[in-house]
Amino acid sequence: SDVNINAYDETPVETSGFDVPSPVTSFSEIDFSSALSKNIKRCNFVKPTPIQRYAIPVAMAGRDLMACAQTGSGKTAAYCFPIISRILRRDHKKNPAGIVTEDGCLSLKIACPLALILAPTRELSCQIHEEAKKFSNNTGLKVVVVYGGAPIYQQFRNLKKGVDILVATPGRLIDMIERARVSLRNVKYLTLDEADRMLDMGFEPQVRKIVQQMEMPPAGVRQTMLFSATFPIEIQKLASDFLSNYIFLAAGKVGS
Ligand code: ADP
Ligand code: MG
Repeated sequence: SDVNINAYDETPVETSGFDVPSPVTSFSEIDFSSALSKNIKRCNFVKPTPIQRYAIPVAMAGRDLMACAQTGSGKTAAYCFPIISRILRRDHKKNPAGIVTEDGCLSLKIACPLALILAPTRELSCQIHEEAKKFSNNTGLKVVVVYGGAPIYQQFRNLKKGVDILVATPGRLIDMIERARVSLRNVKYLTLDEADRMLDMGFEPQVRKIVQQMEMPPAGVRQTMLFSATFPIEIQKLASDFLSNYIFLAAGKVGS
């Protein structure tokens, strides 16, 4: 990448919300699973970017998050590291409701991911998939991507090998749900990446439909994170509809 992340070293981060977890200055301060720590080193991530310093402790604490930060600020790792680490430690089983439905998807035909990452475009979902695979190396976690504008059958085949983390564009995901190839009943971690672009592209009805799917019984407690470059009123509305008792983070100047 030609993005100079050092340029963001001094970006101030604004925080609000109840009981904001303290930011960290290094990845070693966080109790990541050891396989993930090794992958972070292997990827040459020496120290966290400003949004990562704040967002990672919030996400590791299981809190819902609304994070605003510009392109190139390292948002992918900010949500992927906590998701991977928490899945490996099965932290989602310790949630207050204690509802565990991992035995609900024994059929090999229906993929039941624990984490869902939504992105607006094929290009973005593929980038996230590539990064998430690097971060999940040697963990046993399966990361799969599904997006529109490509044959669905190869994606069905990829899903049949199992999926822990699903990266998806909204339209193709709904198609897969309607064809009973994907169920969202086990999703414990939901991330909307580039939420502002998702709305600009007209995906709000699809996104709302997907979140509704996750709220049908036997849905348990879900951790939800929204990432966006800007924070217009439409995103504020999504945040209040999808998040509960959430932490707000804004790195640098955030347009509305
Ligand atoms: P955003 O989603 O905010 O646009 P990305 O997550 O795509 O940003 O990150 C931009 C680039 O910086 C990617 O190539 C990513 O691998 C790299 N990167 C992110 N965080 C770090 C870090 N802490 N150390 C080194 N490189 C990083
Ligand atoms: Mg990004």
